[in-house]
Amino acid sequence: RFSKSLGQNFLIDGNIVRKICEEGEISKEDDILEIGPGIGTLTEELSYKANKVVAVELDKSLFPILDETLAGCNNVEIVPGDILKIDLSKLFSEKFESENIKIVANLPYYITTPIIGRLLEEELDIDSILVMVQSEVAERMKASPGTKDYGSLSVFVQYYTDPEIVLLVPKTAFMPRPNVDSAVIKLKIRKEKIELKDRETFFKVVKAAFSQRRKTILNSLSSGLKTDKATIRAILEKADIDPKLRAENLTIEDFSKISAILPPFNIY
Ligand code: SAM
Repeated sequence: RFSKSLGQNFLIDGNIVRKICEEGEISKEDDILEIGPGIGTLTEELSYKANKVVAVELDKSLFPILDETLAGCNNVEIVPGDILKIDLSKLFSEKFESENIKIVANLPYYITTPIIGRLLEEELDIDSILVMVQSEVAERMKASPGTKDYGSLSVFVQYYTDPEIVLLVPKTAFMPRPNVDSAVIKLKIRKEKIELKDRETFFKVVKAAFSQRRKTILNSLSSGLKTDKATIRAILEKADIDPKLRAENLTIEDFSKISAILPPFNIY
């Protein structure tokens, strides 16, 4: 009955649903974009707490159940579509009136990273993103330099947001039960970001650095950026970074310094 391939694990624990809304500090001032309402458990609670809820769902076969769950809610609009393809700025300007827009979702886990990537890269005018993800992914999002979980996802998420894990959710809260534990993570959008000369080059450097995380930063950047070691060594020296360090020891500021010295991304 449920589609495993669409990541359908529905929340059935009312306490968890209420806690998610509490942690999101949802009020009648807020308009909410929900991703994947499923059978509407979270949507219904959001509807009570928020001014308006717009929920994008890919699986049309759920719509009759959603209609039933949400029969008493007159501030919810279900939009059929794929969150990875839908025109988000158009959706925002057409559907939302409030100044405070929040995104809330129990994400389909098979596309967590592309969804987060899209929501952050588009730099939508939002306040925060509150999402349920696999707990291991939540740990990677908030990891600090020098830890095993620190990687390109940490840098990406922390460049755009200030992440905080607000709730751990057991498998028993879902039907069907997933194989992994889950966590709710709050991504508060940074109003002031670290200055970057060129964002594309910055993320290219981060990706290259972590592509071979066991190697030194000198070696991983040299192979990842297809640039000779002497050039990379000179760049690292100029950025005052020890070439023997590994990517996991570098801060976002370090990556920013390296990318500012590099020639623009399009030469690679
Ligand atoms: N919010 C519900 C809950 O908490 O019970 C359902 C969460 S379930 C983990 C993920 C939901 O996302 C499913 O309803 C699934 O059909 C939907 N979904 C999967 N891929 C999607 C996509 N690309 N765009 C929009 N919704 C999607």
